[in-house]
Amino acid sequence: TEDIPSDHPRHDSLVTRHRIEAGVDAGITSRQGLIAEGRGEAFDYLLGEETIPSADDAERAAAAQLLLAEHPVLSVNGNAAALVPEELVELAETVGADLEVNLFNRTPERMEAIADHLQAHGAPDVKGLDADERIPGIDHERARVDADGIYDADVVLVPLEDGDRAEALAEMGKVEIVIDLNPLSRSPRTAAIPVIDNIIRAIPNITAHARSLESAERDELEAIVADFDAERALHEAEERIRTGAGQEQ
Ligand code: ATP
Ligand code: MG
Repeated sequence: TEDIPSDHPRHDSLVTRHRIEAGVDAGITSRQGLIAEGRGEAFDYLLGEETIPSADDAERAAAAQLLLAEHPVLSVNGNAAALVPEELVELAETVGADLEVNLFNRTPERMEAIADHLQAHGAPDVKGLDADERIPGIDHERARVDADGIYDADVVLVPLEDGDRAEALAEMGKVEIVIDLNPLSRSPRTAAIPVIDNIIRAIPNITAHARSLESAERDELEAIVADFDAERALHEAEERIRTGAGQEQ
């Protein structure tokens, strides 16, 4: 990534791509993760490769929701770990959340590699390896979570989650924050707070909002969450993609 000049017009996109490649080489990201990355890049391109105002609102609501949570958990998959390991650790620290490795294509090797990777980036503790509970309603391997992690959580942040699991988590009564660049995907559509933004921009921005809300009263945080309109956020992202509206401002 050192070789990409910082003024290259597609700088961030190229850095992202290299991180995913390195993630695959390191055994952190699955090969399907490469396909997910390509899909994400296409949507990011259409969104103007920036955090649109409605996504910033969602990120602020996500921060408020995480601060209000009794037991927030940040779910980490192979793409998230490759792209924003340090940023995830920082967010977890800022809002007092657990980090849990949660893979669609679960192998013990990848679970370990991701946990080690997060620890190398400063995570004190990483959940997901016990996998002693299950999310009801989805098949065995894909359902496995930690009893004292996602299973117990009241608020779960899931970046790039697949639709079935996002739905199953919502059915368990979890308040779900989903980060996904595709506003038409089922996963953000089942979320209480859909964040239509690149995880690379979304995680640090949620952390920044959480820091600025750190001393806010509970009722102020509750008002931020109550004022957030998920339907509208999805609609505005779709509008941006279809019409490019707002891009010139
Ligand atoms: P489903 O309908 O089950 O949700 P899907 O087609 O969305 O299926 P995946 O390939 O698992 O299935 O989706 C990966 C999702 O992750 C895509 O919607 C893609 O836009 C999103 N994505 C990929 N990279 C990023 C990223 N860096 N930041 C945010 N979202 C991303
Ligand atoms: Mg999806």
